Amino acid sequence: MTLPCSECALKAAGDRADEGFSQDFGGEDGWPASTIAWLVPEARRLVAARPRRPLELSAQHLAEQMTRRDYTPGHIAHIPRELLERPGLGFYFSTVEGPEGIENRHLFLLDGAHRAAWAMGEGRPFSVYVLTEAEQLSCIVSYVVDGQELGPEAVMLAPGVGTTDREAGILSRSSRCTSWLRGRWARVRG
Ligand SMILES: [Zn+2]
Repeated sequence: MTLPCSECALKAAGDRADEGFSQDFGGEDGWPASTIAWLVPEARRLVAARPRRPLELSAQHLAEQMTRRDYTPGHIAHIPRELLERPGLGFYFSTVEGPEGIENRHLFLLDGAHRAAWAMGEGRPFSVYVLTEAEQLSCIVSYVVDGQELGPEAVMLAPGVGTTDREAGILSRSSRCTSWLRGRWARVRG
């Protein structure tokens, strides 16, 4: 008897409306430890509502993402081929650093870790639909700093940076929002 696949078991359970992705930040150099959680189904809904061109990740970006993602390798064989070939979802998280306020963008793979692992294993290109800054901020459901929940609205701190509609491949007027957080990569689950 084989153990059931944990990913398939989750899907079979049906309601994954609270499916999330979280990332740890700070915790060093005087920056408080914080964790931000994004709601994945909301990101899917936003992308479905505003179609956009997928962005192909470089091999380096793809490899970087996969070192930071947990996934179930055995589950890849359970995913239909046409789903494996679909783009994932990602976003750039902007941090503003130094007295000059230099913007750094860090790519996050929000959805599609199994598809990305498959593409990497097959030596195929992998693309993501990129969320705008306003969209990724609106997917945030939790912002915990030093163990205290501050709420998603506390993330929006500084104007003028972040992925625009145009950069996300959406042909409409530009929408800008921002965040000001010092980021640090951490292992993520998704
Ligand atoms: Zn499975």
